[in-house]
Amino acid sequence: MSGFKVGIVRLGRTAGKTKYALLDEDDISLVEQFAFEARVQVDPNGNGAHIYAWAYEIHRGRSSGQFMHELLWERHCGGIAPDWKVIHKNGITVDNRLENLTLVPRSRSQVRDTEGRGSKGTSKENKEQSLYWLAIQQIPTDPIQDMMHYPELSFTRYYNSNGELVEEEDDSNVYYECHYSPCTNIEKELREFSICGRCQRVRYCGPYCQQKDWPIHKKYCRERRGLCPSEHPPER
Ligand SMILES: [Zn+2]
Ligand SMILES: [Zn+2]
Repeated sequence: MSGFKVGIVRLGRTAGKTKYALLDEDDISLVEQFAFEARVQVDPNGNGAHIYAWAYEIHRGRSSGQFMHELLWERHCGGIAPDWKVIHKNGITVDNRLENLTLVPRSRSQVRDTEGRGSKGTSKENKEQSLYWLAIQQIPTDPIQDMMHYPELSFTRYYNSNGELVEEEDDSNVYYECHYSPCTNIEKELREFSICGRCQRVRYCGPYCQQKDWPIHKKYCRERRGLCPSEHPPER
């Protein structure tokens, strides 16, 4: 990581894992003024969901907020015309380094396919060499990973394509992102990813990520049997 100057902010728990956003080191001072959280936006075209960083001024409250990528664009590059929007060049919607942001006509589709399924430029190899992947791998395990003991912190806010809050009563319409921390693959269909058979709490995009995550996850993975049966009804 030497040679890179990058800031990382914790967005909290969402989509089954702890999410972080990347930004330029120069922008890290924003934490003095802003609070950050993760926003899951369900894709109106049925392509699952995307996770964004939401920023709001601490003294003005959550409703004063905006997307971190738009905030950063306005700070550095000026206003965003109504027919334009800021997108993430590499498809990683929490990689808010200025060089990863660009302005495109609003009519263009939201983000590129980040799954590497038939799309060029986002293969697994490219992703693993991305600064985001490298940076997130360096982060020590979040103690709150052990959600078994902190169920109240697992609350997730979901927003529909109009930015309206969708009430969550259970996890039946939660799109999971791959639990391996640097992986940004997110389900395109509910329950698409396979669940850890032992704890039945975390989901992975495939065996590769599950294996990579095991040294960390095994510290938190507990046999599901007998744990809070009323709160967590058995899967299928
Ligand atoms: Zn994965
Ligand atoms: Zn497990």
